[in-house]
Amino acid sequence: MTQQQLISVIVPAYNEARNLPLLYQKVATVIENLPFRFEIIFVDDGSRDNSVDILKDLGKRDTRVHTIELARNFGKESATSAGIHAAKGDAAIIMDADLQHPPKLLPRLIKQWQKGVEIVVGVRQYSKHESWLKRFTSRAFYAILRRFTSAEITPNATDFRLIDRKVMDAFGAFTERNRLARGLIDWTGFTRCYVNFVGSPRKHGKPGYTYSKLFSLATNTVTAYSLLPLKIASYLGWLILLFSTILGTFVGIEKFILHDPMQLQIRGTALLAIIIMFLVGVILVCLGFVALYIARIHDEVMNRPLYIIKDEHQEEA
Ligand code: UDP
Ligand code: MG
Repeated sequence: MTQQQLISVIVPAYNEARNLPLLYQKVATVIENLPFRFEIIFVDDGSRDNSVDILKDLGKRDTRVHTIELARNFGKESATSAGIHAAKGDAAIIMDADLQHPPKLLPRLIKQWQKGVEIVVGVRQYSKHESWLKRFTSRAFYAILRRFTSAEITPNATDFRLIDRKVMDAFGAFTERNRLARGLIDWTGFTRCYVNFVGSPRKHGKPGYTYSKLFSLATNTVTAYSLLPLKIASYLGWLILLFSTILGTFVGIEKFILHDPMQLQIRGTALLAIIIMFLVGVILVCLGFVALYIARIHDEVMNRPLYIIKDEHQEEA
């Protein structure tokens, strides 16, 4: 008999001590009957609770459990990347630690992979438990992305996904620091399919993503995939240039050549003040957009490692 294929389950975890044992237990139960070998890679993203101890404990009881301990909190995207880089599987499944991604979906993801699909994406149907603000911001996020970027992004496609070895290898070649793992995975262009699931509320603890983190993620994603903001600034500049030229010509002819037949009595200073204010506005807007990109370039150019591994825990099989 040929060696069974290996599937890596990757779980980024930040302060998830209360969720980890249950997640492990559910995953272990689900993979019990599947005809594959598994490794479960937990990436501890600098948790301040006792997540690491719990993971080490799990590792002692189950040699399939492998823990990567990052030196500090690097963010979910970097933690996920660390997991993908370390995974040895023929495929990897990425899932959240807070049980919002139901382990019972694993067999369905794997089934699609066996049919030859290289990226199997979990698409989340929103449950009523979610706050309207969360649902609204999530919808707005995708609406904005669709408008502003050329990247093809499916609404409510989550990080809960299976990727083939080929995608994992391609993923290793990405060097950018500001990253949205799922955006990069989609960008590779491998065949993709979708599997629906209903998101349950987070089991324990608070989401590590605050609205401000989500906002910066959204801005990063737009600037990562599109130059439109930069173009808007220059479109705006041209528009205002055109407008002020027409206005200037009109006022010049009306006032100085025809000697004010419309009785507008425009004062030079008033005109000047308005124009200056307008142009200062334009300049600031443009600078703002340019700054966004410069910030990104700055980040990329520094080329620091995405994450630092402090320790790894794995028991010999
Ligand atoms: N997470 C992480 N680092 C962070 C924030 C979150 O590794 O800085 C992990 C977290 O432990 C969870 C997953 O990323 O497994 C999703 O996080 P969360 O539930 O906070 O996000 P949401 O479900 O609101 O998208
Ligand atoms: Mg969550």
